[in-house]
Amino acid sequence: MAAFAVSRVCGYNALIPHTTRSVPIHMQNDVPHIGELSPPQRILLAPGPTNAPPSVLGALIAPLTGHKDPFYLTVMDETAQLLRYAYQTQTATCLTLPGTGGAGMEASMANLIQLGDTAIVCINGLFGSRIAEIVERCGGTAIRVTAPWGKPVDPDDVRRALSGVRARVVSTVHGETSTGVEQPIDEIGRIAQENGAMLVVDAVATLGGIPVVPDQWGSAVCYSASQKCLSAPPGLSTIAVSPSAMEYVRGRETPVNSWYLDLGLHDKYWFAAERTYHHTAPVLLGYAMHEALRLIAAEGLEARFERHALHSRALVAGLEALEVELFPDPAYRLPTVLAVVVPDGVNDARVRSSLLNEFGIEIAGGLGEYAGLMWRIGVMGYSATRDNMLLLLTALEDLLAREGGAPAAGAGVAAANAVYAEAIRNGVSADTPAIYTSGS
Ligand code: PLP
Repeated sequence: MAAFAVSRVCGYNALIPHTTRSVPIHMQNDVPHIGELSPPQRILLAPGPTNAPPSVLGALIAPLTGHKDPFYLTVMDETAQLLRYAYQTQTATCLTLPGTGGAGMEASMANLIQLGDTAIVCINGLFGSRIAEIVERCGGTAIRVTAPWGKPVDPDDVRRALSGVRARVVSTVHGETSTGVEQPIDEIGRIAQENGAMLVVDAVATLGGIPVVPDQWGSAVCYSASQKCLSAPPGLSTIAVSPSAMEYVRGRETPVNSWYLDLGLHDKYWFAAERTYHHTAPVLLGYAMHEALRLIAAEGLEARFERHALHSRALVAGLEALEVELFPDPAYRLPTVLAVVVPDGVNDARVRSSLLNEFGIEIAGGLGEYAGLMWRIGVMGYSATRDNMLLLLTALEDLLAREGGAPAAGAGVAAANAVYAEAIRNGVSADTPAIYTSGS
């Protein structure tokens, strides 16, 4: 009988004979025969990622340079300039961070919250709750100011929460992707300022789709992500840090808890005369972000906001004509993420799977307690076009009919087209912007 030894390799805990114990068990597999990737073409109408314009995808196969190559340093400088335009800021330090939107969220709290600090966290959906959890992981106390899902947080509740409390931070989510609610920020910003707290705004679902104005809000930090209204691939977050917040970060007595997300180090990496190595920038994602932001500048923010508003209005009209109910209060409906109630008797999973498999369209389901009960549709960036809205309405009409509903034939598309016709009469174009078609 062979002698056996216990091998612990890569989490395996197996009995193997002495004769083979020098060969880790995970290397005893056959050679894997795995085919080359061949991703399907999808129409991405979930709230991120969106489809990326061809020139953004093209940037991903441009020649790779080193991250300290003079060429790439210029890419960084131009990206910072383009971000200042997207954030409409004269004063903030704007840069990208490696990592998805969550990196911007973590960076905000890791840099502003010190052990024992208090943060007032506005919560009306999943992402507000996540911020509170991050505050606590950073050693702070989160005072949660909540509103029911589907409604914005009431500024008076923020004021009440601040009475008698010395809060370091007030945080709020501009576009709550889990519920499709747009949170008005101005008043919360004023309240934070009156109480000497720094305002943090999550603009992950809104930057590049509706106005995001950190200077006007007086935010200390405002962050977003590459894959939503900017229409770059996922993998980068963007951040706008006010001069006073940057000063606060530099002057902290205790170092920022996260070395990797220390904004003082990122600031030096991006802007110091002698740029010092901090991390190996994801160069190709950097090119893609540069191109995505360049397209936004070429389209112009005003035109871009108008485009998002138009396609969102058209889709709302179409959905209502299909008797699909919108979830949030209309006064606070976020144009870039439409949250709708799955109609009674309709199977959420079956409809979304048919949308994907038969029509190539991705939308998202509900989160948390709304799983199975809600659909979330992104009207974002490059995906926000008339063709996509009309195709989605056509597909939904078909699928809802199969589920036993009886939407009037063509009602959704007709209602959306009526919105487009009115816009065109008022001189607003419903066409895909020339920047996406002419490659200018
Ligand atoms: N904040 C909001 C409002 C979001 O919608 C998301 C993602 O959907 C995030 C933060 C987190 O971003 P990511 O998934 O890119 O990490």
